[in-house]
This record gives sequence, structure tokens and C-alpha cells, in this order.
Amino acid sequence: MAGIYIHIPFCKKACHYCNFHFSTSLKSIDAVVQSIKTEISKQSSYLKEPVTTIYFGGGTPSILNTSLLESILAKLESHFSLATEEITLECNPDDITFEKLAEWNRLGINRLSIGVQSFHEHHLTWMNRSHNAEQSINSIKWAQKAGFENLTIDLIFGFAGLSKTELKENLRVVQKYAIPHLSVYGMTIEPKTALGHQTKTGQYLPLPEAEANAQMLMIMEELDRQGYEQYEISNYAMPKKRALHNSNYWQGATYLGLGPGAHSFNGTSRHWNIANNQKYIKLIQQGQPVYEVEQLSTIDRYNEYVMIRLRTIEGINLDQIENLFPAYFNYFIQNIRPFIGKHVQKTESSYRLTQKGKFITDLITSAVFKVNRESD
Ligand code: SF4
Repeated sequence: MAGIYIHIPFCKKACHYCNFHFSTSLKSIDAVVQSIKTEISKQSSYLKEPVTTIYFGGGTPSILNTSLLESILAKLESHFSLATEEITLECNPDDITFEKLAEWNRLGINRLSIGVQSFHEHHLTWMNRSHNAEQSINSIKWAQKAGFENLTIDLIFGFAGLSKTELKENLRVVQKYAIPHLSVYGMTIEPKTALGHQTKTGQYLPLPEAEANAQMLMIMEELDRQGYEQYEISNYAMPKKRALHNSNYWQGATYLGLGPGAHSFNGTSRHWNIANNQKYIKLIQQGQPVYEVEQLSTIDRYNEYVMIRLRTIEGINLDQIENLFPAYFNYFIQNIRPFIGKHVQKTESSYRLTQKGKFITDLITSAVFKVNRESD
């Protein structure tokens, strides 16, 4: 199993908290798509296994007209062995129309990831989202009406201005529409964003950590009550509705990232595509590589393994970590030990976060991280 991620680096508006690679200048959409197709031809030997998942992320992939999306899929079809079980398209509510939904269906897109973030108008305005609360609701209703059973929405919590009542209301809408999968993220303040600037200049006062944690607890309890499984810290699924693409990534599967700012991983190295649309187009035109390669040391792979796996419901598998990283096995056992009980549950075969542990994931991860590169 292998995955392909395609980064579409365009958005209509810059959300105030966003740190992803995107441009609000839409002039070069055609040129970037053309370059992505050239990149597909060049990277056709990167994946040795059949491709089971394709993920259009961004940015805002729903900004593309159907013919551009179709041309990318056709190019993938001709250069890779496709055995796709899941093709996901990230979309913003304001791009969703019945006409587009029918076209996406026709292209074989079978999963939509909708960037709802909140069902409250004043939150969306504050975030500088391109959609409104009515579009948040309509996007879900229309997608379901068009037959997209495999649906996920993004929600954000942990920002000043989100009251407990409003959070409860957001979760009630989730229940009302029986949305099968959710990604729920805590607001993070990135320095180079509008929100980062507002925070630095005192215009925005972040929500105190205790209140953000109280919101996270409310989300976990309410979604558990509704029947969701929190199969990764930020991801909740109804039975059999886990995201395949992301699950494969958490299992360490190989994936190829295409487009400006995309990453690839083949088990031993990581490719980082240049996160600049014009430079990306130019390098492709000149026939130059668009990426830098980072060879991963055993320590890098160990750190990544513990960081990613600790976030999942399965946790860290004892046999696996011993087989994959024998040199660091004792180090791991020693450093996870202080957390066992209250924050980490030890079973016969794994170490998994308890509910309390989920609030200090970063602390536990850093405790088991290996930093001494010289001993690798
Ligand atoms: S739509 Fe998504 S990628 Fe674009 S600016 Fe907003 S959060 Fe970032």
C-alpha cells in the first residue's frame, strides 16, 4: 500500500491562523497544475507498490475546476499502478455546489474533507474564513444529498471567543448530521501569521491552557457519548470510517507528495518540495529537481515512530519498537516508565495514552525522544 498527496497551494483568503503553504494570488493555478503533471511523470518510479489512497490537500483543492482535477487524475492513472480505495478532496464550504459535487463523484472522488472550523458566524469572520455559517451547514447537507457518505469535517477549539455553549452547539450539529469522521484541532498560534502578530502586539489574548484543556475534555467526552472512536488525538471516527490515507501514514506507509510544499517519504528518506509557487514552476520548466532530500538516521526514524504512534489509539507496540529499534528499546522503556499509570497505560503488547495522558502528549513524546545524534 502506498499513498499520493497532491498539494494545491491556493486559497481565496488567508485564514488568520494558517501556517500552511498557499497563495491568494490565483493567477498561476494553471501553471502549477501543469507543473504538478510534469512532476508526476518524473516521479513515476518513486512508489514501488500499488497506490491505495490519493489525497488532494492544500491550500484549497476545491478551488480547481473539474477539468484540472480530472487532468491530474488522468496523469496519475497513466504513471502509477492505481488500486485506489480512497480519493479524498479537501474543500471549503463556499466551493460546494450540487454541480461540483456531481462532477467530483464522476471523477471517482469518494471522500470529502470539509474545512468547516465552526458553525458560528462570528468565529468564521474572526478567523477570516472565506465561508459563512450557512455555507458550513449547507456544504454538509448537500454533500450527503449528493451521496458522499464518506465525509469528514475540520473543527477548531481552544481560541478566545469560543464559549462552552458554542462548542456544545458545534458538537450538536455534528450529531444532527451524523457526520462519520471529524478532525478536531486546538488553535495554535504560529509566529508568521496574522494571529501570531495580533498575539505579539496584544490585540489577541490566547485562551488560557486550562480552559483549552477543558474544551478538549468536553469534546472527547461528548464525541465518545455520540459513538465516535478517538483513533488519533485529533481524529474521531464512527465504526469503519477511519481515514485510510492518514491511517496508512501513521502506520509508516510510503507516500509521494506532489506540488509546492509537499513532502514524500519512502521509509529511509524524506523529500521536501520547495514551498514557493513561482520557484516550483520555474524549476520544473528547467528540468531541475524541486525537492531537497533528507536521509533519515535511525534516531530520526525512532523519534518519528514514537511521536506518531503515541498519538494513535493502538499506541506503541512493544514487539515492533524492539524489532525496529533494538538499540533504543531500553532507552524507551526507561523513559516511558514515569508516565505509566496515570498518563500511559501499559498492556501486554503496547503502551497507550490514557485520557489524562492525551493532555500532555508533547511532554511524554519529548521524554522518550532520543537527541544524541553522535551515538547513532
Ligand atoms: S483555507 Fe485552509 S489552507 Fe487556506 S488559508 Fe485557510 S486554513 Fe490555510
